[in-house]
Amino acid sequence: MKKKIATVWLAGCSGCHMSLLDMDERILDVLAVADIVKSPIVDGKKLPEVDVTVVEGAVGADEHIEEIKHIRKQSKVLVSLGDCAINGNISAMRNFYTVQDALERSYADSDTNDAPQIPGCEDILTLDKKVVPLHDIVKVDYYIPGCPPTGDMIFYVLNEILNDRVPDLQKEGGLKNG
Ligand code: SF4
Repeated sequence: MKKKIATVWLAGCSGCHMSLLDMDERILDVLAVADIVKSPIVDGKKLPEVDVTVVEGAVGADEHIEEIKHIRKQSKVLVSLGDCAINGNISAMRNFYTVQDALERSYADSDTNDAPQIPGCEDILTLDKKVVPLHDIVKVDYYIPGCPPTGDMIFYVLNEILNDRVPDLQKEGGLKNG
């Protein structure tokens, strides 16, 4: 029976998902043993129970905390994809400022918009004071470092996990938890 995998994008720039596509034709090897049931690159929107979830981006909002806890509950294996997921990286640069500073810089300090304004709270995520890596909130099984990680590294880790092998991440330049 085919395995199920999901990929999720939290506080990241989508660059890690672009690298995922850099697996190129090797994505067919992945699809030979697994179905992608939820991802920004497929239609599935709900996360069923899955064998592997690969998560790009850090945790920077109340909604992210709820989502990563749900992902952990639904996933046998959880993989932190990229430096934002692993240590906050670019997403955590706003930790030097207040949430209000970040909102004003993002929405109100505009040279091109005649009437810049910060959107209402119903229109944007509820930002937390600090952006944190995934493992601050849930247990993470594997880490794939890089900004972004290479398509080669992503394929290596996915292929090993999906074929019931333990990725030798030290050898491949990654990090294994525990
Ligand atoms: S690790 Fe780099 S490429 Fe990936 S989401 Fe963060 S900033 Fe973007």
